Amino acid sequence: MNTIIKTFLENMTFIISFMFLANKISEFIGLKVKKISKYIWISPLLSSLLSLFIMSFPFEDKGMRIDLRAVPLFYTAYLGGWKFGLIAIILPTIYRFYLGGSTTFEGITQGILLPSLIGFLFHKKASFNPPYTIIHLKHMITAFLVLHCIRSVLMLWTTPVTYQTVATRIFFETIGLLSIAVMQNDAKRNILLRKELEFQARHDAMTNLYNLRYFRKKVEEMIKQKKTFVIAMFDVDYFKNYNDTHGHLAGDAVLRTIGKLLSDSMREEDIFARYGGEEFIICFNNVINVQKAISVGERIRTKIESYKFYGEETQPSGKITISIGISGCADGKTLDTLIKEADTALYLAKRAGRNRTEAKL
Ligand code: GH3
Ligand code: MG
Ligand code: MG
Repeated sequence: MNTIIKTFLENMTFIISFMFLANKISEFIGLKVKKISKYIWISPLLSSLLSLFIMSFPFEDKGMRIDLRAVPLFYTAYLGGWKFGLIAIILPTIYRFYLGGSTTFEGITQGILLPSLIGFLFHKKASFNPPYTIIHLKHMITAFLVLHCIRSVLMLWTTPVTYQTVATRIFFETIGLLSIAVMQNDAKRNILLRKELEFQARHDAMTNLYNLRYFRKKVEEMIKQKKTFVIAMFDVDYFKNYNDTHGHLAGDAVLRTIGKLLSDSMREEDIFARYGGEEFIICFNNVINVQKAISVGERIRTKIESYKFYGEETQPSGKITISIGISGCADGKTLDTLIKEADTALYLAKRAGRNRTEAKL
């Protein structure tokens, strides 16, 4: 009995340490790579290598090779479906055939094919979302117990295995599977949490645009790289009047719509953010000519002017409009200087009657 426990503990160590490393690798790939589908096929291959490893250290009894190979094979098919399951079983099947012995057929059908088949039958396509798949533990363990029932009956019926051995293997396999599933869920929840925190740290919660802190960080990087750009700031005209008439919630909806109209008008390389309140800031990247920035600014201004906002008829001009101020070219100036220039131009636009674009003279 001691030997079987030692063997299974050894197998479990392989499974758990292997899974730990695999999770770390997938975490790394998940953060670095945008198109995860190209790399996803590595996981069934890793799973089949793990099975080969486990099969090399079996508990040998009456010509049988008893080990925990079913754990990664079931896990892979349960998580990834039939394609993953199929990729994972090819090498272990060949290897088990190569190892030979009196129970080769049973070893392949009951130890390799059956776990994969049951895993696939219980696979939940809807929750398979690499690299963020979260496993429903109760469902997975139910599926695994179904496998144990079928497999144990078959084993006791077709091989000279003892009840004790079957019970010990069920115990260790279940613990092994549960451990890797919990590890997987922890790792995926960590990645999701990290992404969520990163998003929140960079974005403004109301408009989902970047916040000023992230905008500053990106523009400071551009200044270091000596890029040419122009800063623009805009402010909603008579917005206090809109809030007083329609309430702050309606005002918030206007700000979200303006954020969306702004996102839709920007080029990929531009950076834009909510400056605070009802003010927004834009960095027109690779723009060397203030005139060019004015024409893009005018496009945004007319887009907002012509959009039909709820209740805008109560505004002094009958419309929701914005005033824009544009800085001079970056030319080695600090971001604060450029913001000041844009702010002064914005003030001029307000003074000149609003709903217009002014640039630093
Ligand atoms: P103008 O800019 O044309 O000079 O007039 P204004 O009425 O827009 O004046 P100002 O820019 O000084 O007013 C800012 C107003 O914007 C005050 C506040 O009611 C509103 N505001 C600022 N932040 C928010 C916000 O997050 N949500 C809502 N609903 N309103 C906001
Ligand atoms: Mg303002
Ligand atoms: Mg305003």
